[in-house]
Amino acid sequence: MTTTARDTALDLIDFLNASPSPYHATAEARRRLTAAGFSELAAAGDWPSAPGRYVVVEGGTLFAWIVPDGAAPHAPFRLLGAHTDSPTLRIKPQPDTGRAGLRQLGVEVYGGALINSWLDRDLGLAGRVVVRTSDGPRTRLLRVDRPVLVIPQLAIHLNAEMRTDGGLKLDAQHHLVPIWSMGPAEPGGFSRFLAAELDVAPDAVLTHDLVTYDLTGARLTGADEEFVSSGRLDDLGCSHATVSALCAVAGEPAPGQVSAVVLFDNEEIGSQSATGARGAWLGRQLERTVLARGGGRDDFLRALAGSVHVSADMGHATHPNYSDKHEPEHHIALNAGPIVKMSANVLYATDAPTHAAFLLAAEQAKVPVQYFVNRGQVRSGSTIGPIVAAGLAIPTVDVGNPTLAMHSARELCGAEDSALMIAALKAFLTPA
Ligand code: ZN
Repeated sequence: MTTTARDTALDLIDFLNASPSPYHATAEARRRLTAAGFSELAAAGDWPSAPGRYVVVEGGTLFAWIVPDGAAPHAPFRLLGAHTDSPTLRIKPQPDTGRAGLRQLGVEVYGGALINSWLDRDLGLAGRVVVRTSDGPRTRLLRVDRPVLVIPQLAIHLNAEMRTDGGLKLDAQHHLVPIWSMGPAEPGGFSRFLAAELDVAPDAVLTHDLVTYDLTGARLTGADEEFVSSGRLDDLGCSHATVSALCAVAGEPAPGQVSAVVLFDNEEIGSQSATGARGAWLGRQLERTVLARGGGRDDFLRALAGSVHVSADMGHATHPNYSDKHEPEHHIALNAGPIVKMSANVLYATDAPTHAAFLLAAEQAKVPVQYFVNRGQVRSGSTIGPIVAAGLAIPTVDVGNPTLAMHSARELCGAEDSALMIAALKAFLTPA
């Protein structure tokens, strides 16, 4: 592995460790963007007409863009998209419960989690809490970076069917309730815990959006550190790549186009939310970048007509223990470059022109590409690509980096692929 590739993998690891929830991911992306000269704007604020680098954040969703000097209001967008959310366990609104002398917290499964992977792990808590202040409600980020929760699985001695009846079966209501303390269940106990963590009065905690995360943290693994092992690689892997590519071109952006990144929340539950890809959020930000520069609705529609979007979301590497689950003529290797995802039924938005746009970028960056298609009769996941393509009529190519154990609390990807993806995305933003 080259030093650059290794440094990029270590930088990805920092990004992953800084981002235990979507809100932390956008905070970390914003920190990196502002360090690269982007100014933060408020979604409800007045936006400047001047060229420059800007970022707007709402919860777990972020949009960042660069308007180069001399760009017309109808200049097209070159847009990179990814998502900040990952399957996890989310704390219920009235979580305090317990049995057998143990205090527990009710959780709800978020997204298509491999729920077995959350057993027997030391779990922390992260997300946002709305607290009452004398100036009205205020949203605070919270990260409890200590092993406060654990979901012990049942001993094999007490689960004879597991050996005879096809393995572990889990009921999300009964078997996924984390233990967090001793004693009888105490209504309001969790709220008081949050108040103490945030150093506010117990009645100041109003509401929360909190998820669990694995405290093991991201790290290089493998005999020669060929891999990155972590939670939330899908899709913080590509969130990191898109933000890194935009920061890398910030000093010398391509003329005549608006280079941009969108990171969405709520992809894992179908993108249907106020800040999700299926809603109005992205279109509104794109349009405002045009209106702020003195353009009108027609300039915005002209800009969209010339735009291209790369939707970057982690894809499936061929699993050595289950190679029969993959399309045999489309083997996907770790550390062999980005995957272009294709689907005859448009589960991925890639078509020949957008595919060509990405291929030329990869060629310019001297990055190899691989191809994903479903095996006959298999319908794998989808992503933000077709949703953005349909919602805004922006031609889109779906790409991603190869991953194993997607949607596990701990996923695996190649340590070299991050640098390859960033190089291709950077070239896409600065076409030759
Ligand atoms: Zn994803």
